[in-house]
Amino acid sequence: MRFSESFIYTSKEAPSDAVLPSHIYLVRGGFIQSVGAGLYNFLPLGKKVLDKVRAVAKEELDKAGCQEVELAFVTPSEFWKESGRFEKYGKELLRFKDRKDSEYVLGPTHEEMMVNMARAFIKSYKQLPVNLYQIKTKFRDEIRPRFGLMRGREFLMKDGYSFHKDEESMIKDGFEKMEKTYSRIFERLGLDFRIVEADSGAIGGSGSKEFMVLADSGEDTIVVCEDCDYGANIEAAVRENPKAPHEIDAEYERPEMQFGKFYTPDVKTIDELAEFFHIEPYYTLKTVAKKALYDEGVEKIVLFGIRGSDELQEVKACNAVNANDLVDVSDEELEKAGLVPGFMGPKDLPEDVIFIADKTLEGEISIIAGANEKDYHYVGLNLVVLKLEHKDLAAVKEGDSCIKCGGKLKYTKGIEVGHIFQLGTRYSAPMKAEFLDENGKSKPFVMGTYGIGISRLLAAIIEQHHDERGPIWTKESAPFDLEIIISNIKKEEELKTGESLYKELSKDFDVLLDDRKERFGFKISDYELLGIPYAIIVGKKIKDGLVEIVDRKTLQKQEVNVKEAVEKIKRLLV
Ligand code: ATP
Ligand code: MG
Repeated sequence: MRFSESFIYTSKEAPSDAVLPSHIYLVRGGFIQSVGAGLYNFLPLGKKVLDKVRAVAKEELDKAGCQEVELAFVTPSEFWKESGRFEKYGKELLRFKDRKDSEYVLGPTHEEMMVNMARAFIKSYKQLPVNLYQIKTKFRDEIRPRFGLMRGREFLMKDGYSFHKDEESMIKDGFEKMEKTYSRIFERLGLDFRIVEADSGAIGGSGSKEFMVLADSGEDTIVVCEDCDYGANIEAAVRENPKAPHEIDAEYERPEMQFGKFYTPDVKTIDELAEFFHIEPYYTLKTVAKKALYDEGVEKIVLFGIRGSDELQEVKACNAVNANDLVDVSDEELEKAGLVPGFMGPKDLPEDVIFIADKTLEGEISIIAGANEKDYHYVGLNLVVLKLEHKDLAAVKEGDSCIKCGGKLKYTKGIEVGHIFQLGTRYSAPMKAEFLDENGKSKPFVMGTYGIGISRLLAAIIEQHHDERGPIWTKESAPFDLEIIISNIKKEEELKTGESLYKELSKDFDVLLDDRKERFGFKISDYELLGIPYAIIVGKKIKDGLVEIVDRKTLQKQEVNVKEAVEKIKRLLV
């Protein structure tokens, strides 16, 4: 491609809302154009990168025996009603009607559509397993679209679904195979990533894993062990129950607490409480109130009890009460339910209020907690006699101990680029997608579901590979393999050499020739902003038979004889 004829327009201006390098460089480099909140046009350069990423995914998936299909983007809502998700999905799902008043949704994910496809054709166990995928636009009306391609409303996803006769096949032929295939895809794209345990919703267990590109700008917090390979999204991370301060430090004694109700005027927060009684927050109970949302507009106030030294992990809490979502609850709503904000606790609760306690509180016989009465706390409260329900609710903290090896846990940040999930019969059962097994018995498919954020990957690659001048595309993601920069096209020898190198190298590589009538400095800063792995600069030294090869990663230049340039570049690029 000749730059002079291309539709490539770089810019010095970053979008005013852009904070991440990937967002800034994708716009400044002329890869994408913003057209509305979370909506982007892909310009020729962006489209090339998108297609390359997509091709890597497709190649590896096809090699693993997956088959590509393409489903209608506009989805009849009847399928979503069959699965029970039409109401549940919330506002991210864009619902609309056509001129005949028929209802549709814009697919945010395609389980229903794919189950509908499979049930039409698969009748017998002999046709299983099958793994179908598509690479297609998704629409999610995200509440806060941001960071450019990282969190769009319209975005490109690879979504795959596997169908099996039983759980064993789903794990072996589906889940584990996809784990390996996804790893190869992200390795080929040159990414440093980690596979972590992820939230599986109310299903629980380790049936869900995420592929996290390690980057400080990542929106996800991941918990990793310093000593072993344990890694989990904070939403799913577990730990050994933390030790009490008196168990860690011999100097410290367990506070002696006589059971009683104490007058604690205006002492509402855990810090105030710990200071008031001169104890560590570990020996106090923090009660967090939330409103749990269920189907058909049902709402319930739920109280979650955790140690004062912990924080509530909302995804765990939401799973613990099997809710569709948890939202904040106002003081007025709490008071209406008979609760006293700032003084809530597990004992003497109004009827109908659910209290769930963290698992580290199981067996606790002496703690300080709100008394459900204004300005009062219980001291020395025995939780065992209250017979509370216990669930894992607390967020793992840095410094907590690893459940696998006892090592020290720490946080790191990641960008979720892939997600694999053991789905079971969650969709096939309600949608009656069934096959006949070896004994002629009708059974729902056992399924797995697998996603890759194809457009998000462009942002993730840049977050991991950039410098202060622009992106540094990895080999398999770069918009061009090589750029040839003619320093001054008015110099006949430079132009001639540039053209002949372009002709020669275009036989094997995708080459961009900067043949514009621009200053050299302008061209080189465009090169840096485009992030192409290598460039050949044809400049003044051509009179001595020399050109320069630039490595975008290091920006180091190397002089080579023009006759050797082609061979040298070939060695670098293969
Ligand atoms: P997130 O937690 O980031 O919102 P998710 O868990 O809702 O993502 P999945 O339903 O697992 O996403 O979708 C599969 C993949 O699609 C994700 O791993 C991610 O890479 C990508 N993805 C999801 N939402 C977006 C978005 N709004 N913009 C771009 N890519 C997205
Ligand atoms: Mg996910």
